[in-house]
Amino acid sequence: MSLPLHDTAPRSVSILGSTGSIGGNTIDLLQRHPDSFCVTALTANRNIDLLAEQARQTGAKLAVTADPSRYNALKEALSGSNIRAAAGPEAVEEAAAMPADFVMAGIVGAAGLEPTLAAVKRGAIVGLANKECLVCAGELMLSEVKRAGATLLPVDSEHNAIFQVFDFERDSGVSKIILTASGGPFRCSDMTTMVKATPEQAVDHPNWDMGAKISVDSATMMNKGLEMIEAFYLFPVSAGQIEVLVHPQSVIHSMVEYIDGSVLAQLGSPDMRTPIAYSLAWPERISTPTPKLDLAKMGTLTFEKPDLERFPCLRLAQSALEEGASAAIVLNAANEVAVSGFLQKNIGFMDIPRIVESCLERAEAAPVTSIDRVKEIDSETRVIAAEIIDKL
Ligand code: NDP
Repeated sequence: MSLPLHDTAPRSVSILGSTGSIGGNTIDLLQRHPDSFCVTALTANRNIDLLAEQARQTGAKLAVTADPSRYNALKEALSGSNIRAAAGPEAVEEAAAMPADFVMAGIVGAAGLEPTLAAVKRGAIVGLANKECLVCAGELMLSEVKRAGATLLPVDSEHNAIFQVFDFERDSGVSKIILTASGGPFRCSDMTTMVKATPEQAVDHPNWDMGAKISVDSATMMNKGLEMIEAFYLFPVSAGQIEVLVHPQSVIHSMVEYIDGSVLAQLGSPDMRTPIAYSLAWPERISTPTPKLDLAKMGTLTFEKPDLERFPCLRLAQSALEEGASAAIVLNAANEVAVSGFLQKNIGFMDIPRIVESCLERAEAAPVTSIDRVKEIDSETRVIAAEIIDKL
């Protein structure tokens, strides 16, 4: 059954990265609640067939490919419909800036920074899946959120969990936040196995069905490191108050510990449609097809400390968080290049942390006061990381 969210018009939604895993799950939910939502704009990069199909199915007003060379293909795929086609990174930003009640920021990587910022600048409610934009430009982003009166709703399951149990009115009562981590496909693997790990093994996540980049990030645990930085910007806590706990069942999505010893957690089946639905309907709730938790059937929930020896990416991200803004940009850009090199089978799995560490060692501690500076540091790092891969 579809519940109307408002007495008035359906909520209008734009999806940045509609052809990805977050985008596809968002569309799935919109189609289950046709009376509650309508679609304004959809954006993608190269998957023109799926983009056009989604645009037709949802009745979107605009479909955008970030790749200018695919404009004609998109136009052709949309022929006979009233859907406008556009192409190029600027067109993606324009789509984000179009009036819509809600924007899902579901582009992968630093490519999501400027489109997400465009939505923020016009004061939208933004469902934030693209963690890389906060990692690269957390402070700049938050000052724009404040200036424009935008609302950031965390979609990452861990941050969405914390958002649901964090007492923002009385944050002095919070002693720490605990990000849970599944441990990924190599949680129990020895170093010899990890050195030889293939992209196929690395993207085969035990609990979550996600895009390739975040799946590799989960396997290296860089994902948890990026999430620590994301949490630092989303919640009023210090770096020292953010802890990581491995919880292989991915049922407790994260926790907040209070000074009186109380620990509040959000639980659920590992299905991204729950946090996506939370953000889409906020502050109300809508139904999802996510299987309900059966804790009796599950029986046992287990926890362990992360192993920083086998998962050095987590340690590197922790130190980048402590060091400050430019280190996080370098960490993210080096990781994006290294993960792409690994997926293309140019480097091994354990080369990913080596490349990130080498880039961090060469980074200068520079103040970051503008998005242009973020882009400069990002581009410089990508060149250095690519050179290291060539040498390897
Ligand atoms: P996917 O790889 O599945 O999808 C990425 C989307 O971004 C696609 O629509 C892709 O288009 C588009 N895209 C890729 N490159 C560009 C570019 N240069 N410019 C514009 N658009 C681009 O990623 P996910 O959905 O897995 O992840 C998206 C974000 O959400 C990431 O930041 C991830 O960390 C975060 N996240 C994802 C979760 C998940 O369950 N998947 C969970 C929590 C967070 P095309 O398909 O045409 O190439």
